[in-house]
Amino acid sequence: MSSVVSRLEHLIRLAREIWLLMPRRVVLVSACLLGLNTKYDGGNNYRERVAKLLEREDLVVIPFCPEQLGGLPTPREPADLTADGGEVLGGKGRVITWGGRDVTHSFVRGAEESLKLARMVGARAAVLKARSPSCGVGGVYRAGDRRLMPWNGVTAAILIREGIRVMSDEEFSEDALERALGL
Ligand code: SF4
Repeated sequence: MSSVVSRLEHLIRLAREIWLLMPRRVVLVSACLLGLNTKYDGGNNYRERVAKLLEREDLVVIPFCPEQLGGLPTPREPADLTADGGEVLGGKGRVITWGGRDVTHSFVRGAEESLKLARMVGARAAVLKARSPSCGVGGVYRAGDRRLMPWNGVTAAILIREGIRVMSDEEFSEDALERALGL
């Protein structure tokens, strides 16, 4: 009987070692979606179905907030873009707070730090908060009239340029994420 138990223990140990050797798939997630209070007003944008990713053992979920990585405080003044995030990265657009302050430098720095993080952890996909001037995917408010434009946020743009598959929390589903990670 004891030899059966020890063989079983050996098999379990072996299975665990194999499991640990399997490559984990890394996903960046906007920190506010997971309930961290990184939002401009000091709150969060918790989304239960996104936060459930934390329970998956086959994924490594890395929370990040580009605006904090760019050195901005929390709470902070909200801001909007004058052009698509890609244009902002190329120096052809700006990020302006509702009070009129130019915070482009902090947003670009946050995007660059986010890209550094993505490379560091080998992220292949990102789930990002919709309509944020940093994280928004395909829909961001324009500075001045706050009209919703078909633009990406500054960090979404830099991640897309890197070939990382991004999706907003509104587009997110576990199936969509599987497809993104499978590429
Ligand atoms: S920058 Fe992105 S992660 Fe940070 S609070 Fe805004 S939407 Fe959330």
